[in-house]
Amino acid sequence: MDYQKPIPLKNQDNHPYWDAADRRELLIQKCESCQHYSHPPGPACAKCGSTELSWENLGSEVKGTVYSFIVSYRPFLPGFQDDPPLVIATVELEKAPQVKLIANVLDCNPEEVNIGMNVKMTWQDIKEGRALPQWIPA
Ligand SMILES: [Zn+2]
Repeated sequence: MDYQKPIPLKNQDNHPYWDAADRRELLIQKCESCQHYSHPPGPACAKCGSTELSWENLGSEVKGTVYSFIVSYRPFLPGFQDDPPLVIATVELEKAPQVKLIANVLDCNPEEVNIGMNVKMTWQDIKEGRALPQWIPA
């Protein structure tokens, strides 16, 4: 069956992030002026306003811990009707703790998710050539 959920749109600011996701890697935008990690990516550093931005490759072995989460029991968008209960988590990256990355925690019982839980990144194939960063228990 066709993937019915929204496909993340690539734009000028975020395309390195999504291109990396399609290669199953995580790239995080970083400010060259103040070294602040910037996520989600944008045209300028959210902290100091500098446009001197680069991308740091965190590779394919990405670990983190659950910082906060909710369990959704109700689908709000088309394509999600078979998913609930769905865990939506904010995850703190081990290699860049100031970055909190929001995604689903898959392959787990929602009742077993807790704050501080170790997770690792996985990439869900969503359509030809596109992949979505997600989390699974580590
Ligand atoms: Zn900055």
